[in-house]
Amino acid sequence: MLLTRKANGSVAREGRLARALSGVLAKTMDRRAFLRRSGVALGASAVASQLPFRIIGEAEAQEKKVAAKVEVKRTVCTYCSVGCAIDAHVQNGVWIRQEPVFDSPINLGAHCAKGAATRDQGITHDSRRLKYPMKLEGGKWKRISWDQALDEVSKRLLKIREESGPDALMVVGSSKYSNEQAFLLRKWVSLWGTNNTDHQARICHSSTVAGVAQTWGYGAMTNSYNDELNSKSLFFLGSNAAEAHPVSMLHTLHARENGCKVIVADPRYTRTAAKADIYVRHRSGSDVALLMGILHHIFKNGWEDKEYIRTRVYGMEQVKEEVLKKWTPDKVTEVTGVSEAEVFQVAKTLAENRPGMIVWAMGQTQHNNATTGVIRASCLLELALGNVGRRGGGANIYRGHDNVQGATDVGPNPDNLPGYYPVAVPGSWAHWARVWNVDLEWLKKRFASEAMMTKPGITVSRWIDAVLEKNENIDQDPNLRAMIYWGHSPNSQTRGSDMLEAMKKLDLMVVVNPYPSATAAMCAMVRKDGVYLLPSTTQYESSGSCTASNRSVQWREKVMEPLFESRTDHMIMYQLAQKLGFADQLLGKKDGKQNIRLVKGKGGMDEPDVEDILREINRGVWTIGYSGISPERIQAHMRNMHLFDARTLRCKGGKDAKTGYDLTGDYFGLPWPCWGKPEMKHPGTPNLYDTSLPVMEGGGNFRALFGVERDGVSLLAEDGSHPKGADITTGHPPFDHVLLKKLGWWDELTEEEKKEAEGKNWANDLSGGIIRVATKVHGCMPFGNAKARAVVWNFPDPIPQHREPLYSPRPDLVEKYPTYDDVKTLWRLPVRFKSEQQKAVKEEMHKKFPLILTSGRLVELQGGGEEQRSNRWLAELQQENFVEINPKTAAARGVRNGEYVWVSTPQRNPDGSFVRIKVRARVTEGVGPDTVFIPFHFSGWWQGRDMLAFYPEGTEPRVRGDAVNTAIPYGYDRITVIQESKTTLCQVERA
Ligand code: SF4
Repeated sequence: MLLTRKANGSVAREGRLARALSGVLAKTMDRRAFLRRSGVALGASAVASQLPFRIIGEAEAQEKKVAAKVEVKRTVCTYCSVGCAIDAHVQNGVWIRQEPVFDSPINLGAHCAKGAATRDQGITHDSRRLKYPMKLEGGKWKRISWDQALDEVSKRLLKIREESGPDALMVVGSSKYSNEQAFLLRKWVSLWGTNNTDHQARICHSSTVAGVAQTWGYGAMTNSYNDELNSKSLFFLGSNAAEAHPVSMLHTLHARENGCKVIVADPRYTRTAAKADIYVRHRSGSDVALLMGILHHIFKNGWEDKEYIRTRVYGMEQVKEEVLKKWTPDKVTEVTGVSEAEVFQVAKTLAENRPGMIVWAMGQTQHNNATTGVIRASCLLELALGNVGRRGGGANIYRGHDNVQGATDVGPNPDNLPGYYPVAVPGSWAHWARVWNVDLEWLKKRFASEAMMTKPGITVSRWIDAVLEKNENIDQDPNLRAMIYWGHSPNSQTRGSDMLEAMKKLDLMVVVNPYPSATAAMCAMVRKDGVYLLPSTTQYESSGSCTASNRSVQWREKVMEPLFESRTDHMIMYQLAQKLGFADQLLGKKDGKQNIRLVKGKGGMDEPDVEDILREINRGVWTIGYSGISPERIQAHMRNMHLFDARTLRCKGGKDAKTGYDLTGDYFGLPWPCWGKPEMKHPGTPNLYDTSLPVMEGGGNFRALFGVERDGVSLLAEDGSHPKGADITTGHPPFDHVLLKKLGWWDELTEEEKKEAEGKNWANDLSGGIIRVATKVHGCMPFGNAKARAVVWNFPDPIPQHREPLYSPRPDLVEKYPTYDDVKTLWRLPVRFKSEQQKAVKEEMHKKFPLILTSGRLVELQGGGEEQRSNRWLAELQQENFVEINPKTAAARGVRNGEYVWVSTPQRNPDGSFVRIKVRARVTEGVGPDTVFIPFHFSGWWQGRDMLAFYPEGTEPRVRGDAVNTAIPYGYDRITVIQESKTTLCQVERA
């Protein structure tokens, strides 16, 4: 154990990243020369710390002693969504050394602390990995065999299914799966017969996906990190990228060096703020008012892009009218606490520095009005400035986990089948049954009813209520009785004390994870049996693809064989499916055909072939263009990273030596949409909706997703607004067999394509012919060409509204800007809004808990933090959970830096007492006197008590602490029920 405790628990962390990067980027030299010269420092992570030097030192020493051949396996960091590539050096099957990939256009040879320390993930016996299956028996953890575990788990599941139906189970998947595993799990759950499945995207960016897609078509980041080099302004609102997406800051700081203005608005003065030209501190939860205030100055001064709005945006006049009337500077200051001069300065800077981007992460997404308010207002700002669909402009939305984008695109979502085909549309099921080679009628019978098959399922944010809520209030027959936590941390969800009650009440909890996670310890605190732990591998023990935040897809080579008794997730899915009776369907085996081959995995056991799974994704996901992203193409990209330009992501020329594949013109990782079949060679789309490029060079336009007309007003793009070179030079609806015939383009399909395309549209024509003719032959977007929507008429707030948090420090503002009415059924459950808010006001929670509590990330940790807190290098850097508190606030409570404090909140324990957590005080002016900040990566304490005794022996993380989410109370977004964890109330007192 190398942990070295730092004095008084505080950690010297100021400015490491900032110093390293600013030093590096201040020099002007060509990229490769610079990287070579500073390679060890930057590559092995000057960004991070001294850690990688030690790792590399150890590994090199070993290499000298052993003469066996060293193989280099190229993989991708499994932590955040930046997508930094790693070269893993393997000798005798052991991962002995790692290097950042200097040729990667994404990370340019850099890693942050996490990436640099990732080799430690499970390579030693003291790694705290779950090494073999276990079950809870008589309140004790007991080692069992895989056969016993699979047998008992499947028997219990089948019994629950027989007694209560398929909806009594929920499977929480993972944003850390490969695309193939995420896809396979969505299929697995469908074959079981429920839509009760979800993953971390629900609690990090579900509101982004909904808000952005409803505005312009796709719910994803519009541009790339690299494209920031083309920006003249970057507005960070709700993102502390320097800690949450550290290597992305390479691009941000490089842009800044080129004159790009960086603006940060945040309730907390973050490391990102330390690099800003303008920093604005606004009250947590007041983002809509701030954004509308900025728009007010833009409209008032006529700075909006009028021609862009005329041709490409629907409804902006209505927004302008409301903003000018409602969001006068005094109102903005009243809500946000930001002065008129500051707001004006931001607006003017953004207007004068175009193209520009807004950047956000979870600071925007976790509010009761996140989707309809914060996200949408951010979209409106960029549309008003004419930034979206431009190189250097748009919405750079930084996702969380390494493959949260991919898992959202093709994975376990309760409302969508892979590729955002909605479960509510019966045609989606017909489409996927064909692709999966599964009988549709058989599939229908797997569900409780066809009504349940087309009803979006329960979300991960609310599963606890699906267990605890009265049965008559739930929109499915049974309450949840069984949960499978398949790569998920419970401490990333709010209302921890309620979750413990739900865990107590379940019949069965199955945890599939390389680490047992806090779930195991929480369950063992309140249960004697009915809990199983199954060890799965990390992504370094498997191969597969993952999608970075910028939509580029990368391929990971398997670095090493599965460690200990762990098995790959897709092997476990297959083995469970065998026991549950749908293994053939999982493989698409019917009528003499089989979509997915079985190959030999760990110990000679069968597992589904990963490349075949990706080919099945290729055959079905036309909507967002995963159809063109074959394993062969992205593997060629990984072998030839040096051929891609770091500014444009484009390959100027070159062939893959292994296969002869010509990479010329491809964008790195074929950022989706990558239209048509792989052989059509669409290059991917680096920036969405960019009309300055031809479609076959990555160009596009806004998606026609909302009809062609609204109240007599056309929703299609105006004449002259189209991708460069398109044969249709005005707005048009999506392509289908009828439109193709009307245009006289039908005969451009081959006879084979015609047979398949008859009666189909661009999204369900499995021949790809409709897309081929639209894109390759005529240069048009398959999904039509429409305007973005400034007004989303199907949302409760068609124009974004400020709504006070459910637990607001300002009852006066609750009166003026209340939250929504309660909803009887949303995602199968009732959701309280106004009743909860009014109760809080009535009980004067703002007096009992006078401080705003907000949460966020640290550079050394990720998500629930179990892996990093088990990693000896990272554990050493962050040894205890803490609360940032302003000196004045601390002094008023007699609290000094480094002391333990209790942070209590309105969340209650079952006995009615308020929940409180014990953390160290970090006294800093980084937060204002009314706000405190706690990182959300900790677990392993329960309200001040160490949970060590409840972990299976040898699996407890090195660093444990109270989870902030144990204490964050009720509150959900009106559309996606993402938790309201960015703004709530608390009190702090000396422990
Ligand atoms: S955690 Fe993110 S920024 Fe850090 S090395 Fe991994 S991918 Fe890169």
